[in-house]
Amino acid sequence: MRTDRVRVRFAPSPTGALHLGGVRTALFNYLFARRHGGDFLLRVEDTDQGRFVPGAEEYIIDALKWCGLTVDEGVGVGGPHAPYRQSERGEIYRQFAERLVASGNAYLAFDLPGELNERRAEAEARGEIFVYGAANRDALKNSLALPPDAVKKLLEEGAGHVIRFKMPANEELALQDIIRGEVRFNTALLDDKVLFKADGMPTYHLANVVDDHLMEISHVIRGEEWLPSLPLHALLYRAFGWEDTMPLFAHLPLILKPVGNGKLSKRDGNKMGFPVFPMEFADPATGEKWRGYKEDGYFPEAFVNMLALLGWNPGTEQEIFSLEELAGAFSLERVNRSGARFNPDKARWFNHKYLQEKPDEELADALSLMLEAEGFRRDREELVKICRLLKERATFVADIRDAARFFFRAPLEYDEKGVRKNWKAETPALLLDLARLLAGLDSFAAADTEAAVREWIADKGVGLGQLMNAFRLAITGFADGPRLFDVIEILGQDETTRRLAAAVERLGH
Ligand code: GLU
Repeated sequence: MRTDRVRVRFAPSPTGALHLGGVRTALFNYLFARRHGGDFLLRVEDTDQGRFVPGAEEYIIDALKWCGLTVDEGVGVGGPHAPYRQSERGEIYRQFAERLVASGNAYLAFDLPGELNERRAEAEARGEIFVYGAANRDALKNSLALPPDAVKKLLEEGAGHVIRFKMPANEELALQDIIRGEVRFNTALLDDKVLFKADGMPTYHLANVVDDHLMEISHVIRGEEWLPSLPLHALLYRAFGWEDTMPLFAHLPLILKPVGNGKLSKRDGNKMGFPVFPMEFADPATGEKWRGYKEDGYFPEAFVNMLALLGWNPGTEQEIFSLEELAGAFSLERVNRSGARFNPDKARWFNHKYLQEKPDEELADALSLMLEAEGFRRDREELVKICRLLKERATFVADIRDAARFFFRAPLEYDEKGVRKNWKAETPALLLDLARLLAGLDSFAAADTEAAVREWIADKGVGLGQLMNAFRLAITGFADGPRLFDVIEILGQDETTRRLAAAVERLGH
């Protein structure tokens, strides 16, 4: 029943991990709800027991949490329309399916799977495709074709049956989609879809429409792959007499592979080296393990920001948006019709941008956790300084960790090319002199060491570049890196002089 209140739902089937297309659908629903002060529901569509994957529902809930998409109503939260898990609503659907049979919009079909397979094979032999529908339903085993007493007898015998929708024979439907405008369908091309299965469970179509109605959904925002279901759904609303409160529909564009044609698939990630899932997922059915954005070191805000721009644009040049800003700016009218090409480099770019804006303290805490996992502990102050110094070149906190290795361990080897270029006969004596100078300074703040060293170099009359390079090699082992005076401030006076002496020792006098 549509109300004036905006109510949208994310309705995943727990058939595996939610990939980034699914997260984007959730995100657009969430943003739309926030934009209009409405409700964001989570409904789990788990009526297909054959495709149920243990752990998938928990995964979906955790992934939404990680992305910061707070659910107002639904699985894990509760609400006035509970239960929100379709497997717990079986009885409701049965009643609605029977209502359609009573009104002549649906019928009972007793055809056994084997019989239908035969029909399929026969059609195939003629080069046709078998479609259970208006053209042949009168010749099949159902309550429209059989005499009433035969139907009665079958029911008394407890014959298994499904309930099928009676698709109008040849009707032109003009339906509205918020993103696509008018979409036309001819029912002649559609089959009599099963609404209720022999196992006592509804199919997706019936459960989805009944729930959207009962849960007072105002807008259905879902992936383009559901567009072909729209005519059936619209006809179900009509058959139930709910046309005037039918939700408005918006079908989101596909997310395309980074290169080439087609929809981004979970395999593409492994092939091309990027995650397609928000979080790691170990598929219990196949034993396969899938990488996640979370474990790869992405900030959820960066991931969400990147997703928001996959198929939507704000109409301005702005690219960096907080979740709140997105909610303020979002509109379905600005969602594109054509597929959105996924770009893993752009995902990294967003993370880099977000990392630059993170407080050094927060980065230091994340870095500290990583180091602890490797078995060493560092002073927080020191880590804060390291993050401040190294973040500019980093995309992930792990990049800071990798670039910071020389802080935690004095170099044992020195960049060969750098040595060849910068380590001259006079270098050892100069560096030992420099070590003495540094050891005698009262302040080791970068500005002070820099002033002292520059003065010393000017006095000596030696080339600045070559000596600074040798100095850097001795301290870090590398030929380039962050500002050296900042580096030695963090390392401290003792460690700095120790490293100078050690380099002279190793690389020769
Ligand atoms: N259960 C469907 C899915 O897995 C929901 C589609 C819809 O939103 O109607 O995507």
